[in-house]
Amino acid sequence: MIRPNIHVLGNASVSAGMPKSGYSANVQAKVCARTISDMLNNRDPGDPSYMNTCYSIVRKDYGISVSVVYSFDETNNQIVKVKGAGGLTPSDASDEALARESRYAHGWFHNITNDMYS
Ligand SMILES: Cc1cc2nc3c(=O)[nH]c(=O)nc-3n(C[C@H](O)[C@H](O)[C@H](O)COP(=O)(O)OP(=O)(O)OC[C@H]3O[C@@H](n4cnc5c(N)ncnc54)[C@H](O)[C@@H]3O)c2cc1C
Repeated sequence: MIRPNIHVLGNASVSAGMPKSGYSANVQAKVCARTISDMLNNRDPGDPSYMNTCYSIVRKDYGISVSVVYSFDETNNQIVKVKGAGGLTPSDASDEALARESRYAHGWFHNITNDMYS
C-alpha cells in the first residue's frame, strides 16, 4: 500500500527484489533522503538506482560476494533487478581473486560503519 509522504526503508520496507540487508537499508536511506530533499525543493527526484552486495568471508583470505543493481519500476511501484547488472564470485576464482574479495569485504564493513556512525 502506498501512502503519500510516508517513507519506509530497510527491513521494515516491502522492497520486493532487494534483500533485507544493511547494504540495502543504507542505499535506500540515501535514495530516500535525496528524494525528500528534492520534494522539499520542488526538484524532480529522477529515477533512483539501488545496489546491494553481500560479502561472505569463508575463512582467512577467502571471500565471496554477490552484487545486484536495481531500479524502480514505476508501473508496478516496486524495486526490480536490472538484468545483467551485477556479479557473483566465479566458482573457479583464483586464490588471488578470493583474497581480494576478502579485502573488499573488510573494506566495505569499514566504509559502511564510518558512513553510518561518523
Ligand atoms: C546474523 C545476521 C547477519 C547479517 N549480516 C549482514 C551482512 O553481512 N551484510 C548486510 O548488509 N546485512 C546483514 N544483515 C542484515 C542487516 O543486519 C539488516 O538488514 C539491517 O540491520 C536492517 O536495518 P534496519 O535499520 O532496516 O533495521 P534494524 O537494524 O532491525 O533496526 C530497526 C531498529 O528499530 C528498533 N525498533 C523496533 N521496533 C521499535 C519500536 N516499536 N520503537 C522503537 N524502535 C523500535 C529495533 O530495536 C532496531 O534497533 C545481517 C543480519 C543478521 C541477523
